[in-house]
Amino acid sequence: MDHFLYRNGQLHAEDVPLHDIAEQVGTPFYVYSTATLTRHFTLFQEALAGMDHLICFAMKSNSNQAVLRILADLGAGMDVVSGGEYRRARAAGVPGNRIVFSGVGKTRDEMHLALTGGIRQFNVESEPELLALSEVASGLGVTAPITLRVNPDVDAKTHEKIATGRKEDKFGVPITRARDIYAQAAKLPGIEVIGIDVHIGSQLTDLAPFEAAYLKIADLTRQLRADGHRITRLDLGGGLGIPYTRGNEAPPLPLDYGAMIQRTLGDLEVEIEIEPGRLISGNAGILVAQVIYLKQGEGRDFLILDAAMNDLIRPAMYGAHHDIIPVIEPVPGAEQYPFDIVGPVCESGDTFARQRHMPPVGAGDLIAFRSAGAYGAVMSSEYNTRPLIPEVLVKGDHFAVIRPRPTFDEIINRDTLPPWM
Ligand SMILES: *Cc1c(COP(=O)(O)O)cnc(C)c1O
Repeated sequence: MDHFLYRNGQLHAEDVPLHDIAEQVGTPFYVYSTATLTRHFTLFQEALAGMDHLICFAMKSNSNQAVLRILADLGAGMDVVSGGEYRRARAAGVPGNRIVFSGVGKTRDEMHLALTGGIRQFNVESEPELLALSEVASGLGVTAPITLRVNPDVDAKTHEKIATGRKEDKFGVPITRARDIYAQAAKLPGIEVIGIDVHIGSQLTDLAPFEAAYLKIADLTRQLRADGHRITRLDLGGGLGIPYTRGNEAPPLPLDYGAMIQRTLGDLEVEIEIEPGRLISGNAGILVAQVIYLKQGEGRDFLILDAAMNDLIRPAMYGAHHDIIPVIEPVPGAEQYPFDIVGPVCESGDTFARQRHMPPVGAGDLIAFRSAGAYGAVMSSEYNTRPLIPEVLVKGDHFAVIRPRPTFDEIINRDTLPPWM
């Protein structure tokens, strides 16, 4: 459910007509709904209500300061995957003891940053990383709380590029080696083992792979405890999928996911941590663009937009589907026409959809990409010297720009000439 609905013949973000935003900030732009972000976070809170838990928002999905602030104020922790994200989380007011640090390539500088600034735990992904963390922490005279990210060898049945829990994926340590590495970790200076971490992939639309992975984690918890480790926290990752296509069968709800966690891990007396990203931010944002031209090709018509693959790369990168709808509400029963919907970038991959049926739209009309709040703005670039597009936040009948469009001077002046020129 989201808060982007037609009202009085026009698509609104909560109580704000999108044309009002377009007039003030120009197109294209991202717009996020405070109510949807809040609702999605609250759904997870309710789903885990019976258990000691912390929800760490995977901020790689959307790391705008205002978005982080909304979630932090609701009690969210953050899952960060770089020193930059750590700094963003702290800047948004998230205390270090609510930040978990994931990622396969944490540098010593990043470890230093988090250990001195405050950290809830490191999710360690390899033995060399474990050794480096031990050195950095003991050098500082502190102890690093860790979980080991185990790779359970479960196929998440999702897109190739976002499956992370099969043995051929680069993430975590093989679950078969986990006991050895825990034994090693327990002896290292500056390391305190506190739990286990797992994250098997993104955009999962079925609970079965999660359940298979969590059952393996339950077994491992018992084994590690028998080996003498204190396992007090299980980080179960993120990955619950969202409906990208209206009218199709919806993925499982957070409530079902929570019940499954309760069922598989509820008797272990551990604190549960989850790291949802997409489910919180995905349907809390849309991308609004304008049609520049309607171009008639041979046997197909192109809608050429002012948004492009550099603004929203998911279709080009994952073949992802986004519902694309006109901002002016189509008359009921209006005839639909097939369009190839493309951007202006000089790449054939700059295609958002092929032969997509749309009600009649023409040059100057606004259209909206649904489900663009996750892995949208954060993955954008300035390819073709197209400025990063603004992000706007709506709350009720208010809206505010939360990241302005840079000027061309700002973009050009980021480059510097070498002294010999
Ligand atoms: C990407 C990622 C997440 C979030 O995944 P979503 O599909 O957005 O929920 C959580 N944890 C880790 C370690 C990740 O890499």
